[in-house]
Amino acid sequence: MNNIPTVMIIFGGSGDLAHRKIYPALFNLYRSGLIHDNFAVIGTARRPWSHEYLRGQVADAVHETYGEVDETDLEAFASHFYYQSHDVTNVEHYVTLKKLAQELDERYSCQGNRIFYMAMAPSFFGTIAEHIADQKLTGSGFNRLVVEKPFGTSLETAEVLNKQINGSFDEEQVFRIDHYLGKEMVQNILPLRLSNPMIKSIWNKDCIKNIQVTLAERLGVEARGGYYDASGAMRDMVQNHIFQIITLLAMPEPASLADTDIHAAKEALLDSLEIPDEAEVAAGFVRGQYGGTETTFAYTSEPNVDPESKTETFVAGRVKFDQGPLAGVPIYFRTGKEMKEKRTRIDIVLKDMAGIYGETGENSITIEVDPASEICLTINGKTIQGGGLRRERLAYKFSPEEQAQVPDGYERLIHDVFVNDSTNFTKWKELKRYWEFVDAVEDAWQKQNESGQKPLTYAPYKMGPAESKQIFANPTDHWIY
Ligand code: NAD
Repeated sequence: MNNIPTVMIIFGGSGDLAHRKIYPALFNLYRSGLIHDNFAVIGTARRPWSHEYLRGQVADAVHETYGEVDETDLEAFASHFYYQSHDVTNVEHYVTLKKLAQELDERYSCQGNRIFYMAMAPSFFGTIAEHIADQKLTGSGFNRLVVEKPFGTSLETAEVLNKQINGSFDEEQVFRIDHYLGKEMVQNILPLRLSNPMIKSIWNKDCIKNIQVTLAERLGVEARGGYYDASGAMRDMVQNHIFQIITLLAMPEPASLADTDIHAAKEALLDSLEIPDEAEVAAGFVRGQYGGTETTFAYTSEPNVDPESKTETFVAGRVKFDQGPLAGVPIYFRTGKEMKEKRTRIDIVLKDMAGIYGETGENSITIEVDPASEICLTINGKTIQGGGLRRERLAYKFSPEEQAQVPDGYERLIHDVFVNDSTNFTKWKELKRYWEFVDAVEDAWQKQNESGQKPLTYAPYKMGPAESKQIFANPTDHWIY
């Protein structure tokens, strides 16, 4: 599809996300012809920038991401950018913004099409949505809203935000971004599961013993202590990224690859998500905070973190569904800061069916998402000497050339917004279930706090608290990574 006429309004146009992700992504969409002559982008923020200054920032952002590019192309691209100084809490500013959007719509023949991108602190999302509605900023063509994470901080706050958004956007016009859904190997989960008879035929509760999802981060909270302390690993990573990955792993086969069918299959699965009670949280979840070293701060000594904080920087837990191909199969997850290395991987551990060979090494399928893109099968084979068995790895890893071709998640997802493909975005019904689960865990932890139980302290740059191995339903199971 070429040249989709649009006026795009970015709230948070001077921010980090716009600079590092949105502007470079738009440049690539421009180079590929998806947006070309008939588009204008309005960057808004409070700073008193000029159009020229924003264009310089856009050019810098493109250079920082892609290095040398065709300067004539870049200049032509940047000329479509306009800056509007705008405080999102000031109603009058929306009047000026609307006027500019209408002017640009006419100048670039954008046919009344609008994309609104909320790329700023989530506390402003509701205010912006309400003012888009009360000042009637939407155009006469298509209107789409892109919302960054986090979408709420609990089910209750997410419901309030959703209502505010629904004042001017229907559910099918809302694109809730989860950039993990733009990652190559996350997008590879369904093709891997459903296009390989060999894998498809074992993707069930009879063959799969458990699944393990790990999202490890090497960094601590850095300068984000204030934000993080009000959030924690469960809300920051599990509620969105981990649950989206788990949903792709456990959903039934959709009727087709159409976005509506994909979401219908996800919703059918999530209806059967078991919401944990207090006893399940006590048995199946472990939370921790990183401790300090001679050269690094413990979490509770980080700037802007409450020294008495009970916020978790690590969580391990388990998820189960009553329906779908993995009904009853435990899905374990863990995520944390200051872990051994930055790595996202999924391990699918198969049941032992070796028969006459007795106890053997487990077969497993590993999907490496970050930093490498790799799929690896671990199987048993005969040792050369003697009649024993040895473990073999059959791996397919992207070459550096292939890895270089993988588009950034944001580029893919912004492309999807232009072509109205909601496959890789979070729908409200999914989000609602994720929050129900997360709220149940948070409530149980709150009660634990009140009875004096605190998150465990873990040694930094390892794999989190050793107690995380206690969440396995079967005591002989273990983390395979
Ligand atoms: P940021 O703090 O760098 O930028 C915030 C922007 O909002 C700035 O342009 C600022 O000027 C503007 N702003 C603040 N108050 C304003 C007001 N009252 N009126 C108008 N503009 C105002 O934040 P960011 O890192 O760009 O993050 C933006 C959103 O993207 C957040 O929801 C964040 O969770 C999400 N996100 C960011 C990243 C990232 O890599 N930066 C990654 C994933 C998600």
